[in-house]
Amino acid sequence: MAFVTRFAPSPTGPLHLGHAYAALLAHDLARAQGGAFLLRIEDIDATRCRPLWEAQILEDLHWLGLSWDGEVMRQSTRQAAYDAALDQLWAQGVIYPCTCTRRDIEAALSAPQEGVIGPDGPVYPGTCRCSPAGARPHSAALRLNMAALARQTVFTETGAGLAGQIVTHAQDYIATIGDVVLARRDMGTSYHLSVVLDDAAQGITHVLRGADLFDATRIHALLQQVLGLPTPIYHHHRLIRDEAGKRLAKRDDARALSTYRSQGASPADIRRMVGL
Ligand code: GLU
Repeated sequence: MAFVTRFAPSPTGPLHLGHAYAALLAHDLARAQGGAFLLRIEDIDATRCRPLWEAQILEDLHWLGLSWDGEVMRQSTRQAAYDAALDQLWAQGVIYPCTCTRRDIEAALSAPQEGVIGPDGPVYPGTCRCSPAGARPHSAALRLNMAALARQTVFTETGAGLAGQIVTHAQDYIATIGDVVLARRDMGTSYHLSVVLDDAAQGITHVLRGADLFDATRIHALLQQVLGLPTPIYHHHRLIRDEAGKRLAKRDDARALSTYRSQGASPADIRRMVGL
């Protein structure tokens, strides 16, 4: 079976040990399987992404000894594909424009029992939900209508402690995930839409990434089903934490690869530090 995986960093800060773990794991597995290891720069958020960070990501990966196959994909070049998918979803009647601010949503959720937290934060109370009519608006936030979809999905997970056939029922989508945003007003897309379309466009068969994205994968499996795209096999790996047990964040410069490197660490040291 073909094995194609990827590393998909967002250039919003320096790579840290958690990123190194994800990249090394995906790379090593691809090489062991005689498969391909691809690189994708997830730079849809122009307000947070910087060419400086992208350059440093490439440099860090080279330093770690990682090589990738083919061209680097950049999400900032893929808006036409995102628009085509949004047009398709609009024509299917399963997305709708939303003008709610974060504050509107909080106000609508003031009753405590309504405050279910999904993978993207509080489950949207449905204020703007409607059947779309006319042409799809651009520069509007667009949400997926979970009740209109009423689908069940399944994906294969191979990560330690999570492995199995992961089923999400239509009711789970409605009650615990809610109408997620597929296009942000300021971006014309979202992480969920872009990652699904790009994994399909790059022919990714196996997605390796941090366990923090496990629940978001339920959204991805649904989008794949609705858009007629294949669902890869998912492997969500343990998160690398600091001494206090806290997840590493991009702003955690102390654990940036470049910091370890400037202190004399070798790529082999980094492998040891992440338990590889
Ligand atoms: N771009 C995401 C990040 O840097 C990773 C997304 C993914 O692997 O699906 O956290």
